[in-house]
Amino acid sequence: MSKHPDRAAWFEGGDAKCDVSPSPRGHVYRLVLLGPPGVGKGTQAELLCKALGTCHLSTGDVFRAAQCQTDHSPALKAALEAMRRGELVSDDLVVSMVSERSGCLSCSGGFLLDGFPRTAAQAEALNELLEQQGVGLDAVLSYELPLSEIVDRLSGRRTCSKCKAVFHVTARPPQKEEVCDLCGGQLIQREDDRPESSRVRMQAYEESTKPLADYYQKTGLLVPIRAEGSPETILERSRDALLALAVSSKI
Ligand code: AMP
Repeated sequence: MSKHPDRAAWFEGGDAKCDVSPSPRGHVYRLVLLGPPGVGKGTQAELLCKALGTCHLSTGDVFRAAQCQTDHSPALKAALEAMRRGELVSDDLVVSMVSERSGCLSCSGGFLLDGFPRTAAQAEALNELLEQQGVGLDAVLSYELPLSEIVDRLSGRRTCSKCKAVFHVTARPPQKEEVCDLCGGQLIQREDDRPESSRVRMQAYEESTKPLADYYQKTGLLVPIRAEGSPETILERSRDALLALAVSSKI
């Protein structure tokens, strides 16, 4: 069995190289996952990456990794404070962070972008970066869920402090309370999943990210997916949607 890619190039940026490359199964997928906070994008990204043999590129993961380091530049310090409040980090900083890692976009394993783009300006920047790297998107999977379920998912979500695996206190409970099934790390509630920050994140989503669905609809890349049910059910729907694209020769 192939090892899970270590994503060093994504986490460290600059000249960092991954020790383990993703091993694509069949078509090399280049996808964006879109959807409100708590809809389960991170979980789907993990499951889809295993199924497709591609790499999970989450901008939120890069910021959370930076939180654990010291010696932040003033720009990064401001970004992490915005993140704690549930606000979006500035387009300039996010785009320069992704630009620094743009080699990941032409990785031979493909990619699943999770949490980027989040604004129209970021979507334009992504188009330019993809063009520079000589690759294009296959699809934008847009996960959709009623607001009441989103609130429940955010408040019950728990994340492993070590390997970042995602659980839910009722929908996907760990075998042992507060302990990660995968690595034994401690499960925590993300600072920005607390109710006060969640409200701000939902507002940022409604104002800045939701309009991206229209943007990608116009380009013909948008694939809406119902995000109700278990992670496995939603994965099945995602795979069916990708299969339908392949059958219709869109990819
Ligand atoms: P996520 O894990 O994708 O929900 O991201 C967590 C937090 O990181 C967000 O609430 C933002 O504060 C910040 N963040 C991550 N990606 C972006 C982005 N593309 N644009 C702006 N802020 C972002």
